[in-house]
Amino acid sequence: MHILVTNDDGVQAPGLLALAQAMRPLGKVTVCAPDRNWSASGHVKTLERPIRVTETMLADGTSAFMSDGAPSDCVALPLLGFVEKVDLVVSGINPYSNIGHDVTYSGTVTAAMEAVISGVPGIAFSLASQDRPANTPADYGPAAQIANVIVKKFMDESLAEGVVLNVNIPYLSVETMQGMLITRQGLRVYRDALDKRVDPRGRPYYWIGGEEPTGVNEEGTDVGALASGYVSITPLQLDLTNYKAMDVLRKWKFQK
Ligand code: MN
Repeated sequence: MHILVTNDDGVQAPGLLALAQAMRPLGKVTVCAPDRNWSASGHVKTLERPIRVTETMLADGTSAFMSDGAPSDCVALPLLGFVEKVDLVVSGINPYSNIGHDVTYSGTVTAAMEAVISGVPGIAFSLASQDRPANTPADYGPAAQIANVIVKKFMDESLAEGVVLNVNIPYLSVETMQGMLITRQGLRVYRDALDKRVDPRGRPYYWIGGEEPTGVNEEGTDVGALASGYVSITPLQLDLTNYKAMDVLRKWKFQK
């Protein structure tokens, strides 16, 4: 089993190290991750410039590839033959949850989607560490343990082609987690606000600011599972078609 580990937070992020270490007992691990933070970059394919890859070292002394491309580029390159055949791509562990509409913004999740496009299973792991006590470093230990359990299970079972697993882990000890729930995407509530400022030359510039997003706490959803202390496992697919809307649109009777 050859496991490719990537993330969207950059190759030196502690969540990547924790995930790589959790995968090592399960197979051969290759790490290829971006050289900087690409969080909320969505699904990217770099076509207008070359992609450079260099070898670097993780904090535990193991070797890793680092690229100046996006997270999805860091998956595409290895799957296109930069390294030997990959059997599974895991992405994360992202320091914040990726639930509801987050999945289209998330570099963590879109890296796993890139794998599925190439016919390789992809699993994204995110930790709701925004719920930790203020001014404490995030502890990825419990989430890494959960990632190990899920990948081990994945290796014993079989998953249909085209399925991306989006895993969100509550910020709890493994003992206090309630269990694992299979969920659907919930509803995120974004509280973005335009922050307009003026540069030293008098020109306006903008930040997308505002408060942390919340979510609609509904049973059966990723939002609800995390709120109740469960690990949320959402099977995603890249077919975003709204099938009900197809029937509505057909009734519009377009004339060419
Ligand atoms: Mn991130």
